[in-house]
Amino acid sequence: MTKVDYPEEIRSLIAQLRRLPGIGPRSAERISLWLLRSSQSPCAALAGALNEAAENVCLCAVCGFFASRADGCELCMDTTRDASLLCIVEQSTDILPLERTGALHGQYHVLGGRISPLDNIGPEDLRLGQLARRLDAGTVKEIILATGSDVEGEATANYLTALLRTTHPGIHVTRLAQGLPAGGGLESADDLTLLRAISGRRAAEQ
Ligand SMILES: [Zn+2]
Repeated sequence: MTKVDYPEEIRSLIAQLRRLPGIGPRSAERISLWLLRSSQSPCAALAGALNEAAENVCLCAVCGFFASRADGCELCMDTTRDASLLCIVEQSTDILPLERTGALHGQYHVLGGRISPLDNIGPEDLRLGQLARRLDAGTVKEIILATGSDVEGEATANYLTALLRTTHPGIHVTRLAQGLPAGGGLESADDLTLLRAISGRRAAEQ
């Protein structure tokens, strides 16, 4: 006996939603049905927002943060930021947790990953060429290494400390203070922990 299921279109919608992080089969089904039965007709608006974001959001070629193709990068265009302070992070998503602490008003540089030999990720996979070009401009006086507190984050910070000492010895390099969740990235840290990590930053050791 064939079991009755939703029409193909609904099954396809559920399958797409299940691919999203944090959405299990039950949630995917519930969201799909809500979308289709809602009196507010949210489907066109949702589809429009998805298309708009996919087409118009890119990563800033300078700092690596999310940028709008039409309006550029908000961070790089903000002339009130302290150009002498550059905070280096692993991922674009690490910037907003740091910004929310209100403790930094400098500029950022996204590495686009971290050194991880097990995953075959080496320094050549990070945005180091772009970093060198920014530092060569001569305005940066302090670099804060805000990589994660796990093994890969530490390895990346150590590599950068050694590299910067050779290539840009005049720049003061600091590292976020301990206290970040062990083995975690910045995304999982709460505001107060991050604030303490920033204010207690120390000179990076080689
Ligand atoms: Zn930017």
